Amino acid sequence: MTLVDRRNFHLFQPLLYQVATGTLSPANIAAPLRNLVKRQANVRVLLADAIDVDVGRRVLRLLDGELAYDTLILAAGARSHYFGHAGWAMHAPSLKCIEDATDIRGRIFAAFEKAERTEDATQRAALLTFVVVGAGPTGVELAGALAEIARHTLPREFRRIDTASARILLVEAGPRILPNFAPELSAKAVAALSKLGGTVRTDTAVADITETGVVLRAGVREEKLATNTVLWGAGVQGSPVGKAIAAATGASLDRAGRIAVGSDCCIAGHSEIFVIGDLARHEGIQGLPLPGVAPVAEQQGAYVSDLIRARLVNRRLPPFRYRDPGSMATIGRGLAIAQVGRWKLSGKVAWFAWLFVHLMALVRYENRLLVLGQWGWHYLTWNRSARLITRDSGRGVERGEVR
Ligand SMILES: Cc1cc2nc3c(=O)[nH]c(=O)nc-3n(C[C@H](O)[C@H](O)[C@H](O)COP(=O)(O)OP(=O)(O)OC[C@H]3O[C@@H](n4cnc5c(N)ncnc54)[C@H](O)[C@@H]3O)c2cc1C
Repeated sequence: MTLVDRRNFHLFQPLLYQVATGTLSPANIAAPLRNLVKRQANVRVLLADAIDVDVGRRVLRLLDGELAYDTLILAAGARSHYFGHAGWAMHAPSLKCIEDATDIRGRIFAAFEKAERTEDATQRAALLTFVVVGAGPTGVELAGALAEIARHTLPREFRRIDTASARILLVEAGPRILPNFAPELSAKAVAALSKLGGTVRTDTAVADITETGVVLRAGVREEKLATNTVLWGAGVQGSPVGKAIAAATGASLDRAGRIAVGSDCCIAGHSEIFVIGDLARHEGIQGLPLPGVAPVAEQQGAYVSDLIRARLVNRRLPPFRYRDPGSMATIGRGLAIAQVGRWKLSGKVAWFAWLFVHLMALVRYENRLLVLGQWGWHYLTWNRSARLITRDSGRGVERGEVR
């Protein structure tokens, strides 16, 4: 078995926002792939970029070579989607990888630093305005953490500015935030965010994003808002390698760039190629595509490994069936929502459940211990000790404006 990845580590994406907001360090939520499979002697790890497949020769094309296969499992995930506005990516970073998180971290903390230095009140107001676009779990978590930073972490550390006056705006094009949750839980999340000092704008789309601001559109009304920090949490699309694989296999791609697979997770006509996780468009029992969440990817991974073993002994398996373990989102300290079937939780109980589930989902004991320690310290002090503005992060730093 060969595990090919262009990164040499596994990344636990659900806690990326905590790296972006200075609670955790990148290594707390990442684990070296070689270390993860060191006891599986039949697994080798290759650091390589997959770019295409030659289905006739059964060869995976890499950026710098080829790899023959009998069975290919594609799990290349997703990347951010700017809905045809690729230029916005420069001004409104999204959160998909470690570099995104450290870039966002740099932008957030550099904005406070610059606000402390400027003499211009208009510029200061723009620097202390933070706009998060998209109110799915990532957008809500970012907005909540930003509000906590402004109201609880930073106030006693700045001498000239009142960080608590920072404006944190969560903008959502749809009618409510966290649309995958029950309406009453969405309403609770809005109340929790307001309690922290954030503002939610629903039915509001982003019409433009520039270096100095955003244009918001609600119905026919447009408003230009001066801000130096816009964060994008509005959409994802399948990894680019999916396009090449779909072309090579004749599989269809949906609008989100996901490869259509059958109930056995295979591409039609290619029982030797599986696509799982965020890159797959897999229709569930009601004909709706399964969501791009970790439990889907994990369950599909387990199913495909069972199926491959079953095939080796000429056994058949029933089609893949997703068992939804429920959804959770956190807004801030003691503020979370959770929905498991008909059960709905909010407040402290949901928050502790969120902490426990996310801690246990980290793949290594070492990371669990490190994260538990950071969370405990943060809980006691509100401090975020990983709020570094590094050379590779934040526009101001790149231009040498903040030193
Ligand atoms: C910020 C954020 C928060 C999230 N929060 C939650 C949450 O709270 N709960 C939840 O259930 N889900 C959450 N998700 C979604 C969840 O992380 C994904 O559904 C899950 O990681 C999908 O797994 P995957 O294996 O399909 O893709 P990924 O985990 O994205 O893994 C893809 C892997 O493929 C590698 N790769 C990509 N392209 C290539 C290539 N061409 N060549 C070689 N290697 C390649 C990448 O380096 C990566 O290691 C979140 C996602 C993000 C981004």
